[in-house]
Amino acid sequence: MRYVSTRGRAPELGFDDVLLAGLATDGGLYLPATWPQFSAAEIRALAGLDYAALAERIMAPFMQGSVLAPHLGAICREAYGRFSHPAVAPLRHLAPNEWIMELFSGPTLAFKDFALQVVGLMFERLLAVRGSHITIVGATSGDTGSAAIEATRGRKGIDICILHPAGRTSDVQRRQMTTVDAPNVHNIALEGTFDDCQNIVKALFADQRFREEANLSAVNSINWARIMAQVVYYFWAAINLGAPDRTVAFVVPTGNFGNVFAGYVASRMGLPVAKFVVGSNTNDILTRYFETGSMTAAGVVPTLSPSMDIQISSNFERLLFDMGGRDAAAVDRAMAQFKQSGAYAVEPKHHQAMTALFTGRRLDDAGTLKVIGDVFRATGELIDPHTAVGIAAMRAVEIPCDVPRVALATAHPAKFPDAVEKATGRRPGLPPALANLFSLPERFTKLPNDLDQVKRFLKDTVIS
Ligand SMILES: *Cc1c(COP(=O)(O)O)cnc(C)c1O
Repeated sequence: MRYVSTRGRAPELGFDDVLLAGLATDGGLYLPATWPQFSAAEIRALAGLDYAALAERIMAPFMQGSVLAPHLGAICREAYGRFSHPAVAPLRHLAPNEWIMELFSGPTLAFKDFALQVVGLMFERLLAVRGSHITIVGATSGDTGSAAIEATRGRKGIDICILHPAGRTSDVQRRQMTTVDAPNVHNIALEGTFDDCQNIVKALFADQRFREEANLSAVNSINWARIMAQVVYYFWAAINLGAPDRTVAFVVPTGNFGNVFAGYVASRMGLPVAKFVVGSNTNDILTRYFETGSMTAAGVVPTLSPSMDIQISSNFERLLFDMGGRDAAAVDRAMAQFKQSGAYAVEPKHHQAMTALFTGRRLDDAGTLKVIGDVFRATGELIDPHTAVGIAAMRAVEIPCDVPRVALATAHPAKFPDAVEKATGRRPGLPPALANLFSLPERFTKLPNDLDQVKRFLKDTVIS
Protein backbone atom coordinates (compact mmCIF):
# COMPACT_ATOMS: atom_id res chain seq x y z
CA MET A 1 0.00 0.00 0.00
CA ARG A 2 1.28 3.47 -0.93
CA TYR A 3 0.56 6.56 1.14
CA VAL A 4 0.13 10.14 -0.10
CA SER A 5 0.34 13.45 1.75
CA THR A 6 -2.73 15.68 2.05
CA ARG A 7 -0.59 18.58 0.83
CA GLY A 8 0.85 16.79 -2.19
CA ARG A 9 4.46 17.95 -1.94
CA ALA A 10 5.96 15.08 0.08
CA PRO A 11 7.14 11.79 -1.43
CA GLU A 12 4.77 8.82 -1.50
CA LEU A 13 5.82 6.29 1.13
CA GLY A 14 5.07 2.71 2.13
CA PHE A 15 3.54 1.81 5.49
CA ASP A 16 6.82 1.39 7.42
CA ASP A 17 8.14 4.83 6.53
CA VAL A 18 4.76 6.41 7.26
CA LEU A 19 4.79 4.75 10.70
CA LEU A 20 8.17 6.26 11.55
CA ALA A 21 7.64 9.64 9.88
CA GLY A 22 4.34 10.67 11.53
CA LEU A 23 3.96 14.05 9.83
CA ALA A 24 4.82 14.35 6.11
CA THR A 25 7.75 16.62 5.18
CA ASP A 26 5.37 19.13 3.55
CA GLY A 27 3.45 19.53 6.82
CA GLY A 28 0.62 17.32 5.54
CA LEU A 29 -0.80 14.05 6.87
CA TYR A 30 -0.47 10.67 5.20
CA LEU A 31 -3.43 8.73 3.81
CA PRO A 32 -3.59 5.49 1.81
CA ALA A 33 -3.58 6.14 -1.95
CA THR A 34 -6.78 4.05 -2.23
CA TRP A 35 -9.28 2.67 0.31
CA PRO A 36 -9.29 -1.10 0.76
CA GLN A 37 -12.79 -2.48 0.11
CA PHE A 38 -14.82 -5.06 2.03
CA SER A 39 -17.96 -6.31 0.25
CA ALA A 40 -21.14 -7.07 2.21
CA ALA A 41 -20.35 -10.79 1.96
CA GLU A 42 -16.82 -10.20 3.26
CA ILE A 43 -18.12 -8.16 6.19
CA ARG A 44 -20.70 -10.85 6.99
CA ALA A 45 -17.87 -13.39 7.10
CA LEU A 46 -16.08 -11.37 9.81
CA ALA A 47 -18.86 -12.04 12.35
CA GLY A 48 -17.74 -14.26 15.20
CA LEU A 49 -14.06 -13.34 15.11
CA ASP A 50 -12.58 -12.23 18.43
CA TYR A 51 -11.27 -8.68 18.66
CA ALA A 52 -7.60 -9.45 17.94
CA ALA A 53 -8.49 -11.63 14.93
CA LEU A 54 -10.80 -8.93 13.56
CA ALA A 55 -8.03 -6.34 14.06
CA GLU A 56 -5.65 -8.43 11.98
CA ARG A 57 -8.18 -8.76 9.13
CA ILE A 58 -9.07 -5.06 9.05
CA MET A 59 -5.48 -3.76 9.25
CA ALA A 60 -3.85 -6.25 6.85
CA PRO A 61 -4.74 -4.47 3.58
CA PHE A 62 -3.21 -1.21 4.87
CA MET A 63 0.09 -3.00 5.56
CA GLN A 64 0.65 -4.79 2.27
CA GLY A 65 4.35 -4.67 1.50
CA SER A 66 5.33 -3.86 5.09
CA VAL A 67 8.06 -5.89 6.80
CA LEU A 68 5.62 -6.01 9.73
CA ALA A 69 2.85 -7.72 7.73
CA PRO A 70 3.87 -11.29 8.72
CA HIS A 71 3.88 -10.23 12.40
CA LEU A 72 0.52 -8.46 12.40
CA GLY A 73 -1.44 -11.34 13.95
CA ALA A 74 1.06 -11.74 16.81
CA ILE A 75 1.13 -7.97 17.39
CA CYS A 76 -2.68 -7.81 17.64
CA ARG A 77 -2.86 -10.77 20.02
CA GLU A 78 -0.18 -9.32 22.28
CA ALA A 79 -1.61 -5.78 22.26
CA TYR A 80 -5.24 -6.73 22.93
CA GLY A 81 -4.23 -9.49 25.33
CA ARG A 82 -3.29 -6.69 27.72
CA PHE A 83 -6.88 -5.41 27.91
CA SER A 84 -8.73 -6.30 31.09
CA HIS A 85 -12.13 -7.10 29.54
CA PRO A 86 -12.33 -10.37 27.59
CA ALA A 87 -14.41 -8.66 24.87
CA VAL A 88 -11.76 -5.86 24.61
CA ALA A 89 -14.41 -3.36 23.46
CA PRO A 90 -17.63 -4.47 25.20
CA LEU A 91 -20.99 -3.10 24.02
CA ARG A 92 -23.51 -2.29 26.72
CA HIS A 93 -27.16 -1.60 26.24
CA LEU A 94 -28.01 1.83 27.64
CA ALA A 95 -31.64 2.44 26.57
CA PRO A 96 -33.87 1.30 23.68
CA ASN A 97 -31.72 1.57 20.56
CA GLU A 98 -28.84 3.18 22.50
CA TRP A 99 -25.55 1.38 23.05
CA ILE A 100 -22.30 2.32 24.70
CA MET A 101 -19.05 0.85 23.41
CA GLU A 102 -16.61 0.86 26.32
CA LEU A 103 -13.15 1.70 25.01
CA PHE A 104 -11.41 1.91 28.38
CA SER A 105 -10.32 -1.60 29.31
CA GLY A 106 -6.73 -0.97 28.14
CA PRO A 107 -3.80 -0.40 30.52
CA THR A 108 -4.34 3.37 30.90
CA LEU A 109 -8.16 3.39 30.87
CA ALA A 110 -8.71 5.54 27.77
CA PHE A 111 -9.38 4.64 24.12
CA LYS A 112 -5.89 5.78 23.13
CA ASP A 113 -4.60 2.37 24.28
CA PHE A 114 -6.36 0.73 21.31
CA ALA A 115 -3.95 2.38 18.90
CA LEU A 116 -0.87 2.99 21.01
CA GLN A 117 -0.52 -0.59 22.28
CA VAL A 118 -0.34 -1.73 18.64
CA VAL A 119 1.89 1.14 17.55
CA GLY A 120 4.39 0.53 20.39
CA LEU A 121 4.84 -3.08 19.28
CA MET A 122 5.12 -2.07 15.62
CA PHE A 123 7.81 0.49 16.44
CA GLU A 124 9.82 -2.07 18.40
CA ARG A 125 9.73 -4.67 15.61
CA LEU A 126 10.49 -2.20 12.86
CA LEU A 127 13.43 -0.68 14.77
CA ALA A 128 14.82 -4.16 15.39
CA VAL A 129 14.66 -4.93 11.65
CA ARG A 130 16.31 -1.62 10.78
CA GLY A 131 18.79 -1.76 13.66
CA SER A 132 18.00 1.77 14.76
CA HIS A 133 16.94 3.71 17.83
CA ILE A 134 14.41 6.52 18.26
CA THR A 135 13.58 9.05 20.94
CA ILE A 136 9.87 9.73 21.19
CA VAL A 137 9.17 13.20 22.53
CA GLY A 138 5.71 14.50 23.29
CA ALA A 139 3.73 16.98 25.33
CA THR A 140 0.58 15.93 27.15
CA SER A 141 -2.21 17.52 29.08
CA GLY A 142 -3.79 14.20 29.91
CA ASP A 143 -4.40 10.79 28.33
CA THR A 144 -1.90 10.65 25.45
CA GLY A 145 1.23 10.78 27.60
CA SER A 146 0.33 7.86 29.82
CA ALA A 147 -0.94 5.75 26.91
CA ALA A 148 2.29 6.39 24.95
CA ILE A 149 4.48 5.59 27.98
CA GLU A 150 2.56 2.42 28.73
CA ALA A 151 2.89 1.34 25.08
CA THR A 152 6.67 1.84 24.92
CA ARG A 153 7.93 1.12 28.45
CA GLY A 154 10.84 -1.32 28.38
CA ARG A 155 10.73 -1.60 24.57
CA LYS A 156 14.05 -2.04 22.79
CA GLY A 157 15.24 0.73 20.49
CA ILE A 158 12.96 3.33 22.05
CA ASP A 159 13.41 6.07 24.61
CA ILE A 160 10.36 8.13 25.48
CA CYS A 161 10.30 11.57 27.06
CA ILE A 162 6.96 13.17 27.93
CA LEU A 163 6.62 16.77 29.08
CA HIS A 164 3.66 17.66 31.29
CA PRO A 165 2.85 21.05 32.83
CA ALA A 166 3.95 20.85 36.50
CA GLY A 167 0.97 20.88 38.85
CA ARG A 168 -1.58 21.22 36.05
CA THR A 169 -2.62 17.64 35.28
CA SER A 170 -5.01 15.53 37.34
CA ASP A 171 -3.34 13.36 40.02
CA VAL A 172 -4.47 10.14 38.33
CA GLN A 173 -3.19 11.25 34.93
CA ARG A 174 0.19 12.41 36.30
CA ARG A 175 0.75 9.31 38.41
CA GLN A 176 -0.05 7.06 35.43
CA MET A 177 3.06 8.59 33.81
CA THR A 178 5.41 9.18 36.72
CA THR A 179 5.02 5.86 38.54
CA VAL A 180 6.16 3.82 35.53
CA ASP A 181 9.47 2.25 36.52
CA ALA A 182 11.35 1.58 33.27
CA PRO A 183 14.80 2.85 32.27
CA ASN A 184 13.62 4.12 28.86
CA VAL A 185 10.83 6.33 30.31
CA HIS A 186 11.66 9.96 31.12
CA ASN A 187 9.11 12.39 32.54
CA ILE A 188 9.65 16.12 32.60
CA ALA A 189 7.45 18.32 34.80
CA LEU A 190 7.82 21.65 33.07
CA GLU A 191 7.28 24.83 35.03
CA GLY A 192 4.71 26.24 32.60
CA THR A 193 1.43 25.51 30.83
CA PHE A 194 0.52 22.77 28.37
CA ASP A 195 1.14 25.27 25.55
CA ASP A 196 4.67 25.87 26.89
CA CYS A 197 5.28 22.10 26.82
CA GLN A 198 4.00 21.88 23.27
CA ASN A 199 6.09 24.84 22.13
CA ILE A 200 9.23 23.21 23.48
CA VAL A 201 8.42 19.96 21.70
CA LYS A 202 7.81 21.86 18.45
CA ALA A 203 11.11 23.71 18.88
CA LEU A 204 12.95 20.41 19.41
CA PHE A 205 11.50 19.06 16.16
CA ALA A 206 12.27 22.30 14.32
CA ASP A 207 15.97 22.04 15.25
CA GLN A 208 17.08 19.85 12.35
CA ARG A 209 20.48 18.99 13.83
CA PHE A 210 19.11 18.03 17.21
CA ARG A 211 16.27 16.14 15.57
CA GLU A 212 18.71 13.96 13.64
CA GLU A 213 21.15 13.58 16.53
CA ALA A 214 18.39 12.28 18.81
CA ASN A 215 16.41 10.55 16.03
CA LEU A 216 13.27 12.25 17.29
CA SER A 217 9.91 10.69 16.61
CA ALA A 218 6.33 11.44 17.63
CA VAL A 219 3.31 9.31 18.41
CA ASN A 220 0.62 11.98 18.39
CA SER A 221 -2.70 11.36 16.71
CA ILE A 222 -1.55 12.55 13.31
CA ASN A 223 0.30 9.24 12.92
CA TRP A 224 -1.58 7.17 10.33
CA ALA A 225 -1.00 3.90 12.23
CA ARG A 226 -3.06 5.23 15.13
CA ILE A 227 -6.01 5.97 12.87
CA MET A 228 -5.69 2.55 11.23
CA ALA A 229 -5.86 0.69 14.54
CA GLN A 230 -8.94 2.66 15.57
CA VAL A 231 -10.87 1.64 12.43
CA VAL A 232 -11.24 -1.84 13.90
CA TYR A 233 -13.69 -1.04 16.71
CA TYR A 234 -16.14 0.60 14.30
CA PHE A 235 -16.33 -2.69 12.40
CA TRP A 236 -16.50 -4.55 15.72
CA ALA A 237 -19.51 -2.60 17.01
CA ALA A 238 -21.41 -2.57 13.72
CA ILE A 239 -20.88 -6.28 13.04
CA ASN A 240 -22.00 -7.13 16.58
CA LEU A 241 -25.18 -5.11 15.97
CA GLY A 242 -25.99 -6.74 12.62
CA ALA A 243 -23.85 -5.10 9.92
CA PRO A 244 -23.76 -5.23 6.98
CA ASP A 245 -27.50 -6.04 7.05
CA ARG A 246 -28.19 -3.20 9.45
CA THR A 247 -26.89 0.37 9.32
CA VAL A 248 -25.67 1.96 12.55
CA ALA A 249 -24.91 5.52 13.75
CA PHE A 250 -21.82 6.41 15.78
CA VAL A 251 -21.49 9.14 18.38
CA VAL A 252 -17.95 10.27 19.15
CA PRO A 253 -16.73 12.77 21.75
CA THR A 254 -14.16 14.59 19.66
CA GLY A 255 -11.04 16.71 20.04
CA ASN A 256 -8.40 16.18 17.38
CA PHE A 257 -10.83 14.37 15.03
CA GLY A 258 -8.65 11.23 15.04
CA ASN A 259 -11.19 8.88 16.54
CA VAL A 260 -14.16 9.87 14.40
CA PHE A 261 -11.97 9.99 11.28
CA ALA A 262 -11.21 6.30 11.86
CA GLY A 263 -14.98 5.72 11.72
CA TYR A 264 -15.10 7.56 8.41
CA VAL A 265 -12.36 5.27 7.10
CA ALA A 266 -14.47 2.24 8.10
CA SER A 267 -17.38 3.68 6.09
CA ARG A 268 -15.12 4.24 3.07
CA MET A 269 -14.07 0.59 3.32
CA GLY A 270 -17.69 -0.52 2.92
CA LEU A 271 -19.18 -0.48 6.43
CA PRO A 272 -22.73 0.95 6.22
CA VAL A 273 -22.93 3.96 8.58
CA ALA A 274 -25.99 6.23 8.74
CA LYS A 275 -24.39 9.12 10.62
CA PHE A 276 -21.39 10.25 12.64
CA VAL A 277 -22.37 12.54 15.49
CA VAL A 278 -19.48 14.61 16.82
CA GLY A 279 -19.76 15.69 20.47
CA SER A 280 -17.97 18.93 21.47
CA ASN A 281 -17.57 20.56 24.86
CA THR A 282 -17.47 24.38 25.11
CA ASN A 283 -14.48 24.24 22.73
CA ASP A 284 -16.89 23.68 19.86
CA ILE A 285 -14.90 24.55 16.71
CA LEU A 286 -16.10 21.39 14.94
CA THR A 287 -19.76 21.79 15.83
CA ARG A 288 -19.60 25.39 14.60
CA TYR A 289 -17.92 24.18 11.42
CA PHE A 290 -20.65 21.66 10.63
CA GLU A 291 -23.26 24.38 11.29
CA THR A 292 -21.62 27.09 9.18
CA GLY A 293 -19.07 25.66 6.74
CA SER A 294 -16.35 27.86 8.18
CA MET A 295 -13.54 26.53 10.37
CA THR A 296 -12.81 29.36 12.80
CA ALA A 297 -10.47 29.00 15.79
CA ALA A 298 -11.32 30.56 19.15
CA GLY A 299 -9.48 30.58 22.49
CA VAL A 300 -9.29 27.30 24.43
CA VAL A 301 -11.45 27.17 27.57
CA PRO A 302 -10.66 24.58 30.28
CA THR A 303 -13.59 22.15 30.82
CA LEU A 304 -14.47 18.95 32.70
CA SER A 305 -13.53 16.97 29.55
CA PRO A 306 -9.90 18.14 29.17
CA SER A 307 -8.94 15.71 26.40
CA MET A 308 -11.26 17.68 24.11
CA ASP A 309 -9.97 21.14 25.12
CA ILE A 310 -8.53 21.73 21.67
CA GLN A 311 -9.09 24.41 19.09
CA ILE A 312 -7.31 22.88 16.13
CA SER A 313 -8.59 19.46 15.09
CA SER A 314 -5.52 18.35 13.14
CA ASN A 315 -7.06 15.21 11.66
CA PHE A 316 -9.87 17.16 10.01
CA GLU A 317 -7.30 17.88 7.30
CA ARG A 318 -7.63 14.26 6.23
CA LEU A 319 -11.41 14.58 5.81
CA LEU A 320 -10.99 17.85 3.92
CA PHE A 321 -8.60 16.12 1.53
CA ASP A 322 -10.68 12.99 0.99
CA MET A 323 -14.12 14.61 0.75
CA GLY A 324 -12.74 17.56 -1.21
CA GLY A 325 -11.86 15.35 -4.18
CA ARG A 326 -8.29 14.71 -2.93
CA ASP A 327 -7.23 18.16 -4.15
CA ALA A 328 -3.92 18.61 -2.29
CA ALA A 329 -3.36 22.13 -3.60
CA ALA A 330 -6.73 23.23 -2.16
CA VAL A 331 -5.88 21.67 1.22
CA ASP A 332 -2.50 23.40 1.17
CA ARG A 333 -4.18 26.77 0.55
CA ALA A 334 -6.80 26.23 3.28
CA MET A 335 -4.14 25.29 5.83
CA ALA A 336 -1.98 28.29 4.93
CA GLN A 337 -5.00 30.53 5.33
CA PHE A 338 -5.88 28.97 8.68
CA LYS A 339 -2.34 29.48 9.93
CA GLN A 340 -2.37 33.10 8.84
CA SER A 341 -5.90 34.18 9.82
CA GLY A 342 -7.27 31.45 12.12
CA ALA A 343 -10.10 30.64 9.71
CA TYR A 344 -10.94 29.08 6.35
CA ALA A 345 -14.17 28.24 4.53
CA VAL A 346 -14.93 24.92 2.84
CA GLU A 347 -16.53 24.91 -0.63
CA PRO A 348 -20.31 24.65 -0.20
CA LYS A 349 -20.63 21.41 -2.19
CA HIS A 350 -17.95 19.72 -0.06
CA HIS A 351 -19.43 21.07 3.16
CA GLN A 352 -22.82 19.73 2.06
CA ALA A 353 -21.37 16.28 1.40
CA MET A 354 -19.78 16.34 4.85
CA THR A 355 -22.97 17.32 6.65
CA ALA A 356 -24.84 14.49 4.92
CA LEU A 357 -22.64 12.12 6.93
CA PHE A 358 -21.51 14.19 9.95
CA THR A 359 -23.25 16.44 12.42
CA GLY A 360 -22.06 18.07 15.64
CA ARG A 361 -23.56 19.01 19.02
CA ARG A 362 -22.02 20.95 21.92
CA LEU A 363 -22.44 20.62 25.69
CA ASP A 364 -21.13 22.86 28.48
CA ASP A 365 -19.88 21.71 31.90
CA ALA A 366 -23.24 22.13 33.65
CA GLY A 367 -24.88 19.98 30.97
CA THR A 368 -22.07 17.42 31.30
CA LEU A 369 -22.67 17.02 35.05
CA LYS A 370 -26.41 16.72 34.44
CA VAL A 371 -25.95 13.89 31.90
CA ILE A 372 -23.57 11.99 34.22
CA GLY A 373 -26.19 12.28 36.97
CA ASP A 374 -29.11 11.34 34.69
CA VAL A 375 -27.36 8.23 33.35
CA PHE A 376 -26.44 7.15 36.87
CA ARG A 377 -30.00 7.55 38.14
CA ALA A 378 -31.50 5.77 35.12
CA THR A 379 -29.06 2.85 34.84
CA GLY A 380 -26.74 2.79 37.87
CA GLU A 381 -23.76 3.24 35.48
CA LEU A 382 -21.00 5.78 36.08
CA ILE A 383 -19.73 7.49 32.93
CA ASP A 384 -16.83 9.89 32.45
CA PRO A 385 -17.30 13.53 31.31
CA HIS A 386 -16.11 12.87 27.72
CA THR A 387 -18.60 10.04 27.32
CA ALA A 388 -21.33 12.30 28.75
CA VAL A 389 -20.69 14.87 26.03
CA GLY A 390 -21.25 12.10 23.48
CA ILE A 391 -24.43 10.80 25.10
CA ALA A 392 -25.95 14.28 25.13
CA ALA A 393 -25.10 14.63 21.43
CA MET A 394 -26.67 11.23 20.71
CA ARG A 395 -29.93 12.34 22.31
CA ALA A 396 -29.94 15.74 20.61
CA VAL A 397 -29.98 14.50 17.01
CA GLU A 398 -32.75 12.82 15.08
CA ILE A 399 -31.82 9.40 13.77
CA PRO A 400 -34.36 6.96 12.28
CA CYS A 401 -35.59 4.65 15.03
CA ASP A 402 -34.52 1.46 13.26
CA VAL A 403 -30.86 2.60 13.33
CA PRO A 404 -28.97 1.55 16.46
CA ARG A 405 -26.78 4.31 17.91
CA VAL A 406 -23.41 3.53 19.43
CA ALA A 407 -21.88 6.12 21.74
CA LEU A 408 -18.14 5.65 22.23
CA ALA A 409 -17.12 5.71 25.93
CA THR A 410 -13.60 7.06 25.57
CA ALA A 411 -12.38 7.01 29.20
CA HIS A 412 -13.02 5.13 32.44
CA PRO A 413 -14.92 7.24 35.00
CA ALA A 414 -12.13 6.71 37.56
CA LYS A 415 -9.86 8.95 35.47
CA PHE A 416 -12.13 11.88 36.34
CA PRO A 417 -13.32 11.07 39.87
CA ASP A 418 -14.02 14.65 40.98
CA ALA A 419 -16.50 15.42 38.19
CA VAL A 420 -18.20 12.03 38.53
CA GLU A 421 -18.54 12.40 42.31
CA LYS A 422 -19.91 15.91 41.96
CA ALA A 423 -22.57 14.67 39.53
CA THR A 424 -23.57 11.44 41.29
CA GLY A 425 -22.34 11.49 44.89
CA ARG A 426 -20.33 8.34 44.06
CA ARG A 427 -16.56 8.33 43.76
CA PRO A 428 -15.52 5.78 41.10
CA GLY A 429 -12.72 3.46 42.23
CA LEU A 430 -9.70 2.57 40.12
CA PRO A 431 -9.76 -0.94 38.64
CA PRO A 432 -7.57 -3.55 40.40
CA ALA A 433 -4.62 -3.21 37.99
CA LEU A 434 -4.22 0.44 39.02
CA ALA A 435 -5.28 0.14 42.67
CA ASN A 436 -1.75 0.86 43.95
CA LEU A 437 -1.31 3.99 41.80
CA PHE A 438 -1.28 6.28 44.84
CA SER A 439 1.26 4.25 46.83
CA LEU A 440 3.95 3.94 44.13
CA PRO A 441 6.87 6.40 44.11
CA GLU A 442 6.81 9.07 41.40
CA ARG A 443 9.80 9.69 39.13
CA PHE A 444 10.10 12.92 37.17
CA THR A 445 12.53 15.76 36.58
CA LYS A 446 11.33 19.27 37.19
CA LEU A 447 12.70 21.74 34.64
CA PRO A 448 12.15 25.43 34.01
CA ASN A 449 10.34 26.49 30.83
CA ASP A 450 13.61 26.71 28.90
CA LEU A 451 14.45 24.95 25.62
CA ASP A 452 18.18 24.66 26.30
CA GLN A 453 17.67 22.95 29.62
CA VAL A 454 15.30 20.42 28.04
CA LYS A 455 17.86 19.75 25.29
CA ARG A 456 20.61 19.28 27.87
CA PHE A 457 18.40 16.86 29.80
CA LEU A 458 17.78 14.81 26.64
CA LYS A 459 21.49 14.83 25.73
CA ASP A 460 22.43 13.62 29.19
CA THR A 461 19.77 10.92 29.46
CA VAL A 462 19.12 9.51 25.97
CA ILE A 463 21.79 10.59 23.49
CA SER A 464 24.83 8.92 24.91
C1 LIG B 1 -8.14 11.93 23.20
C2 LIG B 1 -9.50 11.82 23.79
C3 LIG B 1 -10.65 12.29 23.12
C4 LIG B 1 -10.57 12.99 21.78
O1 LIG B 1 -10.24 12.12 20.74
P1 LIG B 1 -9.78 12.69 19.32
O2 LIG B 1 -9.29 11.52 18.56
O3 LIG B 1 -8.68 13.68 19.63
O4 LIG B 1 -10.95 13.34 18.68
C5 LIG B 1 -11.89 12.10 23.72
N1 LIG B 1 -11.99 11.51 24.94
C6 LIG B 1 -10.92 11.07 25.62
C7 LIG B 1 -11.11 10.46 26.95
C8 LIG B 1 -9.63 11.20 25.07
O5 LIG B 1 -8.56 10.76 25.77
